Amino acid sequence: MSRVSYVNGRYYPHKEVNVHVEDRGYQFADGVYEVILVKNRLLVDEIPHFDRLERSLEAIEIACPMKRQALKMVLEEVIDRNKFKDGLVYIQITRGVARRDHGFPKTSKPTLVITARPLKIADKSTENKGAKVITLPDIRWKRCDIKSVSLLPNVLGKQAARTAGAQEAWQYDEEGFITEGTSTNAWILDHHDNLITRYLDQAILSGVTRLTVINLAENEGIKVVERPFSIDDVKNCKEAFFTSSTSFLTPVTQIDDTVIGDGSPGEFTKKLLLSYMNYINERPQNELMR
Ligand code: PLP
Repeated sequence: MSRVSYVNGRYYPHKEVNVHVEDRGYQFADGVYEVILVKNRLLVDEIPHFDRLERSLEAIEIACPMKRQALKMVLEEVIDRNKFKDGLVYIQITRGVARRDHGFPKTSKPTLVITARPLKIADKSTENKGAKVITLPDIRWKRCDIKSVSLLPNVLGKQAARTAGAQEAWQYDEEGFITEGTSTNAWILDHHDNLITRYLDQAILSGVTRLTVINLAENEGIKVVERPFSIDDVKNCKEAFFTSSTSFLTPVTQIDDTVIGDGSPGEFTKKLLLSYMNYINERPQNELMR
């Protein structure tokens, strides 16, 4: 399959697409992004993703280069041209091309890049065997609520996890509380069956999957508590998992050297994963006919 990407109003074969070397995204990480899951050729949770994109743009004072409906049409065109059923779309908006100078340029047009790729979505949620997580100090900036393309600490954290034979690194703040993963939100289930995830503030990204999982859990009568939890809380918890648009809901079976529960994915986690898989699969038939 040959991939197609979009840059500033045009569609290109992915191999031929490029952006100017003086794009401020390249030189200053002066931009934001979104990653949206595509299931059956439809965007999953598009509204909260568009909301977050607009919030991120507003926070760094970049005007959105197009209205939401137009952006949605371009995304659908990219999905069609890439000819996959299940995958993900990546949207990046930077402050555009200008002579290198830290302050905002007086005249620059935002650069809008959209890429897409297929994603193999496992049929059975039970196939997920669980992940190992390491812990690391959170060395990121103080506005992690902005989905900035400046991801160096996250890159280093993820690599440290891989080097340690783990899938994710959970970062902890100066008080020893977990903030979030390098590309995921962090969750535990305590021994009273309370599902705990950190509340939203500037220390973490407001994950769209996090929001969906809160809603799914509450619909199933599970009590969700939004509060910080410590590394010790994780080591003594009943179950743990992490969420994101591309990893869905991944059970955590080991944190550093401590095995969680009996070392296999927990029952609540498996149930929630199944609910999430049903949620992304349930789309009205007429929407599929688009
Ligand atoms: N936290 C961080 C730092 C992320 O980078 C991501 C996703 O990229 C998430 C959490 C999960 O967000 P979402 O569920 O919207 O994919």
